[in-house]
Amino acid sequence: MTIAVYPGTFDPFTYGHMDIIERAAVLFDELIIAIYENLAKHPLFSLEQRVELVEKAVADLPNIRVTPFKVLTVDFLHQVGAKVMIRGLRANSDFEREFEMALMNKKLAPDIELMCLMASSQHQFLSSSLIKEVAVLGGRLEGMVPEPVAVALRKKAAAKLPNVSE
Ligand code: ADP
Repeated sequence: MTIAVYPGTFDPFTYGHMDIIERAAVLFDELIIAIYENLAKHPLFSLEQRVELVEKAVADLPNIRVTPFKVLTVDFLHQVGAKVMIRGLRANSDFEREFEMALMNKKLAPDIELMCLMASSQHQFLSSSLIKEVAVLGGRLEGMVPEPVAVALRKKAAAKLPNVSE
């Protein structure tokens, strides 16, 4: 049985993540979406909220499991018996950081291989951080994130922005 892990912060989950998942899922018996707490990034959504939103988004895909984790990513792969780590690469923005992490992970765990899938052209501009900025300023999120994510973002935005007419 071939198992791959797609780790990330997913704060929040976007259609760019979804695209990588759909393309990776057909290559392996099981794809585990592993969500790390990543307090260093000061996530907008709690780990539990992010797990719930990703679970809703992938509910129709048969061979996907969603799991939170708080250990080193390569240790998580060892724990679940996975040999392949999946990451997505957008033009210009991701390569340097991914390469740096890949070299570190290779040092820590030489038995794990990294597989990077190129972001599809229509998702090149999609990033969780930009989505959060757009949401806070009340922008439209259609076509960028699944509806439950859009609803959760609108709720967060409403809680953050005081109603100026009051
Ligand atoms: P991390 O904090 O680990 O970068 P993210 O949730 O931001 O977590 O991203 C997880 C993975 O998904 C990374 O490999 C990232 O490059 C990739 N990714 C993010 N947005 C997109 C996108 N629009 N298209 C393809 N891959 C993406």
